[in-house]
Amino acid sequence: MESNSRPTPPNLDAIAGCLTGTAVGDAIGLPYEGVSPRRAPRLLGPPDRHRLLFGRGLFSDDTEHTCMVLQSLLAANGDVTNFQRDLARRLRWWLITLPAGTGRATAQAILKLWLGFPPPRSGVFSAGNGPAMRSAILGVMLPLEQISQFVKVSSELTHSDPKAFHGAMAIALAAHLAARQQWVTGDEYLALLSDQLHDTSAEELLTLITQAIAAINNYDSTQAYCDSLGMTRGVSGYVYQTVPISIHAWLRHQSDYRSAIQDVIRCGGDADTTAAIVGGIIGSSVGPHGIPEGWKTGIVDWPLSTSWIDRLAEAATMESGSSIPTLSVPSRLIRNLLFLPLVLAHGFRRLAPPY
Ligand SMILES: [Mg+2]
Repeated sequence: MESNSRPTPPNLDAIAGCLTGTAVGDAIGLPYEGVSPRRAPRLLGPPDRHRLLFGRGLFSDDTEHTCMVLQSLLAANGDVTNFQRDLARRLRWWLITLPAGTGRATAQAILKLWLGFPPPRSGVFSAGNGPAMRSAILGVMLPLEQISQFVKVSSELTHSDPKAFHGAMAIALAAHLAARQQWVTGDEYLALLSDQLHDTSAEELLTLITQAIAAINNYDSTQAYCDSLGMTRGVSGYVYQTVPISIHAWLRHQSDYRSAIQDVIRCGGDADTTAAIVGGIIGSSVGPHGIPEGWKTGIVDWPLSTSWIDRLAEAATMESGSSIPTLSVPSRLIRNLLFLPLVLAHGFRRLAPPY
């Protein structure tokens, strides 16, 4: 790209809403990750509050990656090659902090980066939802004509299967529309998506989105749509499961953050990621004030916190050259080591009834 200035973002509300919406969805969904939709209500109760640690919530990789994408976008000043290089560097150091529950393809790709593979060739052939979970913020920040190239270089860092890119585009374009207009019709969204995905290998995704829109027109709940696709044991991390479910919940509840998050979590499976994705899209439309207050104040994480996220969102509206908030590697490593017993406790809890 020729441009040497930061892309003009829409406004602080949309950016802060996307980041906070991702973070809150991630934290509310995290205790439900990997639990089947049938067992979750008996084991944990309904997804109406934080349930990870005595009524408090913590973040996972979905929030961290979304923040890293925005940091890299700001650092790159509109240059797509610099953006990819910067994001590769941030991902490398992120893995050193020993994050829990890293996606397999993402971890393998980052190890390849450490071994010296160049960023355009570090991705492994996987259609996991890693690129989709970090792409809403790109749609919020970038003008339409730049979204595809930035989503592409972000996706190929970790996942080389074109499906991973298509799914990430579906999320970025949803967030792009949500940040810019009050209401989006399913047909309008589908038209934009088919226009941006020329590749014939995207047809499967377009069919799934078409089915999601038909289900909405039929007043089907997200859970009913989920069941109709055969995901009775929960939504997997396969991008063509994660993305259609998230798009359904967004189109059905565009201005109702709480209902959308609860609906995708009730579908079970990779609940932190589906909730983070839907939360990022709807958050960019409703802004931070449209997100339940108790869900925001119930997050007690460190060093990545809700106030740090607010500072990052503010930095995104500043002139290029202003400082970008960062988090130190040692502090994040300490946090993750402290977080580990909690992950193990949840693991053991799941071995016990009710099943
Ligand atoms: Mg996660």
